[in-house]
Amino acid sequence: MARCSEPDCREPGEFRAPLTAGDFDGPGTWRWLCLDHVRAHNAHYNFFEGMSTDEIEAAQSPIAGWERSTRAFASSGADRGPAWSDFADPLDAISARFRPEARRQGVDRFTAKERQALSVLGLKDDADRTVLRKRYSELVRRYHPDRNGGDRTHEKRLVEVIDAYQLLKGSRAFA
Ligand SMILES: [Zn+2]
Repeated sequence: MARCSEPDCREPGEFRAPLTAGDFDGPGTWRWLCLDHVRAHNAHYNFFEGMSTDEIEAAQSPIAGWERSTRAFASSGADRGPAWSDFADPLDAISARFRPEARRQGVDRFTAKERQALSVLGLKDDADRTVLRKRYSELVRRYHPDRNGGDRTHEKRLVEVIDAYQLLKGSRAFA
């Protein structure tokens, strides 16, 4: 067992104490103290104030911090993201979860250039990455000379489609 982390104390560090009051971010934010020093610590921070004996014991468990935040997260239901399995592409799940502001903005998602690119691809401004990619591969198939018996009639259109896709693919709205 490690020693109490108070300088010059030679007692065993049997008790966990948060480095800052109310710090439950997880392992690594604790130090180990002997009984005397954890008492002094608690007198300072009132960490255990208002806790029952069971709660104090639970707080001393090695995974106390994690347990607490996991439970808080699980019970907050309303803010849980969509399940990864609901999405064909996990990246879409990430963007749906973490970029809701981009989706809500709607009109402001795109620059004028990007809007033009959208219209080249025949997309509306509510298109997401999946729709963008699907539409792109449809149009490439439609306009590519190899798919049209070598007919190059649509070549200019194909170049426009590729340019539009390249622009949108790298845009913030589809990042
Ligand atoms: Zn000590």
